[in-house]
Amino acid sequence: MTTTSQSAGKNRVLTGDTPTGRLHLGHWVGSVEQRVKMQDDYDCYFLLANMHAFTTRADQPGDIRQDTLEIVKDWLAAGIDPVRSTIVLQTEVPAIAELSWYFAMLIPFNRVMRNPTLKTEIETKGLGDSYPFGFPMYAVGQCADILAFRPEFVPVGEDQVAHIEMCREVARRFDQLYCGVDSHAEDEAYEQSGAVFPVPKALVGKVGRLIGTDGTNKMSKSLNNAVFLSDTPKQVKKKINAMYPGQSREPDEPGDPSINPVFQYADVFIKDEAFVAELRERYTKGDNLGDGHVKAHVIEAVNELLEPMRARRAEYEGPGGDDAVIDIIRAGTARANATAEATLYAAKEAMKLDFGRRDLNWR
Ligand code: ATP
Ligand code: MG
Repeated sequence: MTTTSQSAGKNRVLTGDTPTGRLHLGHWVGSVEQRVKMQDDYDCYFLLANMHAFTTRADQPGDIRQDTLEIVKDWLAAGIDPVRSTIVLQTEVPAIAELSWYFAMLIPFNRVMRNPTLKTEIETKGLGDSYPFGFPMYAVGQCADILAFRPEFVPVGEDQVAHIEMCREVARRFDQLYCGVDSHAEDEAYEQSGAVFPVPKALVGKVGRLIGTDGTNKMSKSLNNAVFLSDTPKQVKKKINAMYPGQSREPDEPGDPSINPVFQYADVFIKDEAFVAELRERYTKGDNLGDGHVKAHVIEAVNELLEPMRARRAEYEGPGGDDAVIDIIRAGTARANATAEATLYAAKEAMKLDFGRRDLNWR
């Protein structure tokens, strides 16, 4: 049996976002920038994890629907091309839900609950001990999101690496249990050893964890600490100007850039590295460099990055914009279903569940 992580000679990539809000700068540096670059050389699938949005927002279906459309607009604005890449709506790919069940049998409950990313999310999102059963289940579902497309690479931010590790464990377990792959086989050898699933690799972007404007937590769409890709120049200015620079100092007093979150933004968004090094040096010495001054440079650089995105986004913001986005989602999801159905059937054959074939005929 051969897997399909290669299509037309291109290796496959899968990643995605949950519609719990709009995309922010953290998404750009952690994952979206890489996605845009990978479109030429890889067969890319970008997933809208709208089912997973219900794990924390089951009471807000209208917001989830709107955020799903907003995320696609953000993707298009960022430079994702829906012709070269496949945009996938999770809730319309039944193979993902089915694979989630099979994978849930292959991973111990305690293993899921020990996942450090889940633990952090429960804490930072204030979920306490009353989160729904579906919340930890999303980590298993994410293994299915990925493996349904049998990708080689998964471009993600640092917080997702623990999830990808779980996904890799599930792939190995499945292949060993149902496809006769030797438990000592190298990950790279799975595809040649009759596996249904490759063991995919996480690819962390140039900044694995961009800090939020609160200066403490990871920038996150649910923590009210994000600069959104769709923010206006005025909003960018207001949010960055309101950041606490980690210390209280006058322009002529020595400062410590390493505890000032604005300097992480300077490193990431100001292209001229020598200029940032000079700012850092002047800040350290207290060479007449106020915090407002550093922020002004960061604001300018961020707006320079966002300006072309704003222009592309505007095409989908007028009347008919949502309908155009829905058409894009439908076209991508129809393609995605063909891929995911083929994977599901291969998995079911391996599990001796090949009692019949179905034609999904999704439109
Ligand atoms: P939520 O608060 O709902 O969890 P989020 O902001 O964490 O939202 P996700 O949809 O969970 O966003 O993440 C989408 C992708 O973006 C993942 O690959 C994640 O690792 C990456 N990412 C999110 N936030 C950051 C960040 N601050 N820095 C780097 N990468 C990030
Ligand atoms: Mg997250």
